[in-house]
Amino acid sequence: MNGYAGSILRVDLSKGTAWSEPLDAKLAEDYIGGRGFAARIIYDETKGADPLGPENRLVLASGPFAGVFLPAGSKATFAAKSPATGLYGDANVGGHLAAELKYAGYDAIVFQGAAEHPVYLHVDDDKVEVRDASALWGQGAIQAEVALKENLGEDFQIATIGPAGENLVKFACISHDIGRQAGRTGVGAVMGSKKLKAIAVRGSKSVPVADVEALKRVGREMFLKIKHDPALDVWHKYGLGSVCTWANSIGAFPTRNFSSGYFEGIEGIDHHHMRERIIVGNKACFACPMACGKFSRVKERGVWVEGPEYETTALIGGNCAIDRIEDVAYANYLCDELGLDTISAGNVIGFTMECFEKGVIDASQTGGLAVRFGDVEAFAALANRIARREGIGAVLADGVRHAAAVWGKGSEAYAIQIKGLEWSGYESRGAPAMMLAYMTADIGAHHNRAWAITFDIAQGREKVEGKAAKVIELQHIRPLFDLLAACRLPWVEMGLDLKYYAELWPAVTGQDRSWEDLLRASERVYNLNRAYAAREVPGFGREHDYPPERFSTTPVPTGATQGHYIDRQKLDELLDDYYGLRGWDARGLPQAATLRGLGLGDVAAELVALGRID
Ligand code: SF4
Repeated sequence: MNGYAGSILRVDLSKGTAWSEPLDAKLAEDYIGGRGFAARIIYDETKGADPLGPENRLVLASGPFAGVFLPAGSKATFAAKSPATGLYGDANVGGHLAAELKYAGYDAIVFQGAAEHPVYLHVDDDKVEVRDASALWGQGAIQAEVALKENLGEDFQIATIGPAGENLVKFACISHDIGRQAGRTGVGAVMGSKKLKAIAVRGSKSVPVADVEALKRVGREMFLKIKHDPALDVWHKYGLGSVCTWANSIGAFPTRNFSSGYFEGIEGIDHHHMRERIIVGNKACFACPMACGKFSRVKERGVWVEGPEYETTALIGGNCAIDRIEDVAYANYLCDELGLDTISAGNVIGFTMECFEKGVIDASQTGGLAVRFGDVEAFAALANRIARREGIGAVLADGVRHAAAVWGKGSEAYAIQIKGLEWSGYESRGAPAMMLAYMTADIGAHHNRAWAITFDIAQGREKVEGKAAKVIELQHIRPLFDLLAACRLPWVEMGLDLKYYAELWPAVTGQDRSWEDLLRASERVYNLNRAYAAREVPGFGREHDYPPERFSTTPVPTGATQGHYIDRQKLDELLDDYYGLRGWDARGLPQAATLRGLGLGDVAAELVALGRID
């Protein structure tokens, strides 16, 4: 099958066995790859599963654009039933894993069961072994990766978890390529629950493509377009760090646990300071000319880190009011080694700081620690306790929704999450489309399904009409990149025309499918994940889509969005428009006819039989 390696590797960790299955052509046609494969596998195989039980699956999936001649075919998806939300959960990661997996002969690996002792999976083309990893257990995520590379060779691509994953922290990430992370939804905890410390992959095969000359022509054009774009210099110099100043200027920079969108200390953590004070080099994922990764050194702490990129600086910097780039980078390093998602960690610790300052908790609950905004040592102490579930860390390790339920005293209002997933880096009270994007993201409060904030600015920040249609459009385009296993940044940030990707499809796969048809597959996945939520979460529906109360009742106090909030009536208008356009009912559940129209007749039948939809 052109564009695909042609096999899925299955690993039963309870038995220590592995076997290969041919890639199902229908799965490839309907779901394309990456998170499309993952979504269908999770739907089919994890009904009623405990997310941290052996019955859950951990999927690592690549896609047809990974590992071939085009810019940034580099994105791998890790997916599972999320321990943070109980929904379908995933996180993607750049680096070289997606390409290497295909070179080893696999489009995906599906893990089931759980090992009794720590293990790692060793894949060297067709040679697949579950090996002992006792010596690695307890090590930091990057430390373990370095140890494996020293042992196996630099040409292995490796994914690891840190202590947070081992200790089932519900926002534990999976680390790869010495500093990149599949961060969100607790996929690292699922890996830890299976006692799987690492995955090491090396391959020597090639990926068949349909039309090499056409691929070379389109791929070369894309590379040259990026190379000659004046914006490339900014990306090489600053990477995603350059987004901070802009986000602050538009009032979207999370500040002091999302109490504002404007951080007065931005200059200490902006991209200029970052470049001058800590960056020592650029780092790129597989076949990417943008090289947005920045490798940094914090001399005063004697540590190295990849980053900090935008989300990390937003959540650790602004959201915890830490205003020195060296401190943000140090906290980033700690999270990376511990195996904590920096987005959720910055959100959870910002929440704790607010709770401490407002008297919801006191020093008797923090082990004597004064947990105040701006204090990087407090951040470090909490991160360590969370990763090891020590003291207050045992409460925080289950995320802000859980911590607020334990502490009470009105702290639910400060828990900035949706569906159990902590909010990522855009304060959205002045941006209805972006707010709706967070409300309806299929994994919980994450920005990357529909980054709609520039649309809000262009179309009017107060305006509600027309926002739902744009969010839906983006929710199909952006996740399509994850299905294809390509990084979307060349399109989002360099303005690379989508027509290139449409032209790549027949060149890679040989299939005559329109871009609209590929978007239809993306829509199918979106609806499948909503159907999964309807099946797995009792009473799931509209109530799960509302943002925290702060965003609908409290005006932003400072900055460009001062005075903005989106009241419940406007939230309902946004949801009504959105559900209507999607073919979902007033509860926010896909109607049976909608599912059938997307080729999900079996899913519709199951939900009807369960009495969830009509
Ligand atoms: Fe990786 Fe950045 Fe290139 Fe995307 S743009 S592939 S994240 S280096």
